[in-house]
Amino acid sequence: MEPNINDYQDYDIIRWFEEVAENASFIQTQTLRRIIELNFNTEYLKKWLGDIKVQDIDSNALEALYTSSVPLVSHADLEPYIQRIADGDSSPILTQEPITLLSLSSGTTEGRQKYVPFTRHSAQTTLQIFRVYPTTAGGRILEFIYSSKQFKTKGGLTAGTATTHYYASEEFKIKQKKTKTFTCSPKEVISGGDYKQSTYCHLLLGLVFCDEVEFITSTFAYSIVQAFTAFEEIWKDICKDIKEGTLSSRITIPSMRKAVTELLSPNPSLASRIEKKCRELEALDWFSVIPKLWPNAKYVYSIMTGSMQPYLRKLRHYAGNLPIVSADYGSTESWIGVNVDPSAPPEDVTFAVIPTFSYFEFIPLHRQNQDSSSAIDDFIEAEPLPLSQLKVGQEYEVVLTTFTGLYRYRLGDVVEVAGFYKGTPKLNFICRRKLILTVNIDKNTEKDLQVVVERSSQLLGKTRAELVDFTSHADIAKQPGHYIIYWEIKGEVDEGVLGECCREMDASFVDHGYVVSRRTNSIGPLELCIVERGTFKKILDHFVGNGAALSQFKTPRCTSNQVLLRILNVCTIKRFLSTAYG
Ligand code: AMP
Repeated sequence: MEPNINDYQDYDIIRWFEEVAENASFIQTQTLRRIIELNFNTEYLKKWLGDIKVQDIDSNALEALYTSSVPLVSHADLEPYIQRIADGDSSPILTQEPITLLSLSSGTTEGRQKYVPFTRHSAQTTLQIFRVYPTTAGGRILEFIYSSKQFKTKGGLTAGTATTHYYASEEFKIKQKKTKTFTCSPKEVISGGDYKQSTYCHLLLGLVFCDEVEFITSTFAYSIVQAFTAFEEIWKDICKDIKEGTLSSRITIPSMRKAVTELLSPNPSLASRIEKKCRELEALDWFSVIPKLWPNAKYVYSIMTGSMQPYLRKLRHYAGNLPIVSADYGSTESWIGVNVDPSAPPEDVTFAVIPTFSYFEFIPLHRQNQDSSSAIDDFIEAEPLPLSQLKVGQEYEVVLTTFTGLYRYRLGDVVEVAGFYKGTPKLNFICRRKLILTVNIDKNTEKDLQVVVERSSQLLGKTRAELVDFTSHADIAKQPGHYIIYWEIKGEVDEGVLGECCREMDASFVDHGYVVSRRTNSIGPLELCIVERGTFKKILDHFVGNGAALSQFKTPRCTSNQVLLRILNVCTIKRFLSTAYG
């Protein structure tokens, strides 16, 4: 029988992990068996597996039967089933046990939010992750976490983001009790529903407890960067509140006001200590603000890979010499892997798959024949493989079979196998699979765009300006179509430098389809639009206004959403056209 995490004490967690990693392949087969044993009587599995007697089939045969009979699906294929659950059909559709919670995946990578079944199991696997990173008992965590509003579906199920369910769950409380490390903010701050007010209170209480704070964290690094960007503007008000034991009138939500006020009392000496440091920090453009204000913090912990990588430079600026630890790899659908080498820089981080979380398959992806124009995206696929058969250096799309009713579900993430930890693969996160920029035969992924932007924005290094955020759009409204890249910049830059950045981006897309199309002018010159300060905040506000949670927010790197394009175009203050191809 595979090791059960509940049989282990906390201090044994590493031993548990070593055992499951050693026997990853066997445990995967057992995990699949367990999922089928729990759910073979559901409408969905019966449709594909028929009336099977699970107890009469050995585990390897069951795995073979499952992977040959159940089709690979995307979220759209499961939507009719999930919709029936949301509408109140409580028959066993996807899971034997009734689904009582639905999660909204952040959707900012795909453009719209998706419902995903969520159960206590989902919250428990998240808890396991936290146990891997114990802290010194008795401290505090400054956590930039935010719930969105939970609401009821037509059928009476509670819906909200996965992080929202998690912060409201027993598991979140258990995690704090077990690690004896408590978040600085009460639940009224986390679930306040207004991220600006919550950020203010997170920072305020983080400073009230500054000597106890052991580490600073958020789900995705974006939240930490946005919090400290806000801090640059609001620190004086925060100092005033600490000095007087009052709460700024900008906090208007009654429950948040009450909960935070109860934790405050006048502390003029702390306030003047912080104020003095802030004045010095302001002159240094807030370099190293985190260790300066939280002297006992040991590290900053957050997801810094994938679409968070563009915020790394700013995060390092705020963290100074404090170690930054790249957090694990997971999704609303399932948690996937852990960073077993926390001291590695985020650029080199890999995630060891935890074989008990779900049953994982991997679709090998091969780069397309470069001249092909018929492909819907950049890759051709081979047959899905189990975790034990993966090859180092190969790229794959992740496929999940979860305890929560997703069967052979394409997650849409592209990963590369960097190596193995005992028997389990270590994955590099590459990008979302969905092709983002395409006008005709050109195909550029989120990662391609990221590399191009990173490269050309280095030209800003010679100035005092920095890139705050970016997105893109493939404009096909006029012929020839062309790429538009939107940049928000902090600081002044010469127009000549921006023109050069624009040219550099156009010249840096190496996709053969793009290069050929640019040479023949079947794709027009790349356009760089500089948007005014605060534009990406407006985009964040738009998503949050539509129910997204800041904790899971990811700036869409390519958009054809009309509302976003309107915001971007209205806020554009300068335009440049590339001269790269003459
Ligand atoms: P959500 O839609 O909020 O559930 O976000 C899940 C998605 O975020 C995953 O499918 C990945 O695309 C991305 N993600 C999660 N963890 C990481 C990570 N450690 N590195 C890069 N991307 C990640």
